Amino acid sequence: MPELPEVETIARELRPLVVGALIREVWFDWPRVVKHPTPDRFSEELRGREILDVARRAKWLVITLSGDGVLALQVKMTGQLHLVPAGTEHDRHVHLRFELADGRWLLLRDVRKFARAGLYRRDEAGRVLGADEVADLFAEHGPEPLDDDFTLRAFRRILRRRKGRLKPLLLDQSFVAGIGNIYADEALWRARLHPLRAAASLHPDDERRLYQAVRAVLTEAIERRGSSIDDYISLEGEGGMQHYLNAYGRTGKPCPRCGRPTRRIVLGARGTHFCSWCQRLPAAQRTPQVQRLLASA
Ligand SMILES: [Zn+2]
Repeated sequence: MPELPEVETIARELRPLVVGALIREVWFDWPRVVKHPTPDRFSEELRGREILDVARRAKWLVITLSGDGVLALQVKMTGQLHLVPAGTEHDRHVHLRFELADGRWLLLRDVRKFARAGLYRRDEAGRVLGADEVADLFAEHGPEPLDDDFTLRAFRRILRRRKGRLKPLLLDQSFVAGIGNIYADEALWRARLHPLRAAASLHPDDERRLYQAVRAVLTEAIERRGSSIDDYISLEGEGGMQHYLNAYGRTGKPCPRCGRPTRRIVLGARGTHFCSWCQRLPAAQRTPQVQRLLASA
């Protein structure tokens, strides 16, 4: 599933291709792809808008339009964007099509049909307003981990308010935005922290390593244009980060640091990959509940 680096890659590749383009018509064959407003109003209100910018917030693509509009797209599990000449035949997995006045189509292809698009308004400060037109659409998301103001100090401040274990915490979008299963496993591997480690038990040095690992792994993944596992591709094709993962998806393969086999457990219905040698769990945290989790494969 696309996470921050994958959506960032799509935004970066889409931006130079569509900024300045005019949306002439909108077509879809699956009304539920439209999250807001109603499907009819969605098409009607998009017609004639110019694309001013393409950016990312959390795992959303945020396309700024003329006339206070913002098109927010979630590609979710299997959504892909393709830009093709108008009239190009597409398969039945294309459920949404933006027809541009310059003779191109921007297609949303989505095999599992979880992707969503919404047309929202932005206020004078540039905030994207949610469906109620009052609250920030992204109000429930935590900070962007690669922003300049996401400092070690800021990370410590939000971390120290949290209980629970590191892996579910990293996946919690209200804690930090954009991290999913792949990069949570990778960040914990880099930081040498066990996924079941209690957040409250981290020492200042652990916090610093985790902070640096999160930023480093996301930065590297963006440089490599994301991880093409399952269906993710960006506009310019597959990413390359899948060849540089150290923990995620490597069950049984040697840990690149110590050579011992990578372990996999199931945590909150998600596969969790780690090295039980490099990522030790302090003995005091090996409660019966943790032992049960460790036995789940
Ligand atoms: Zn290891």
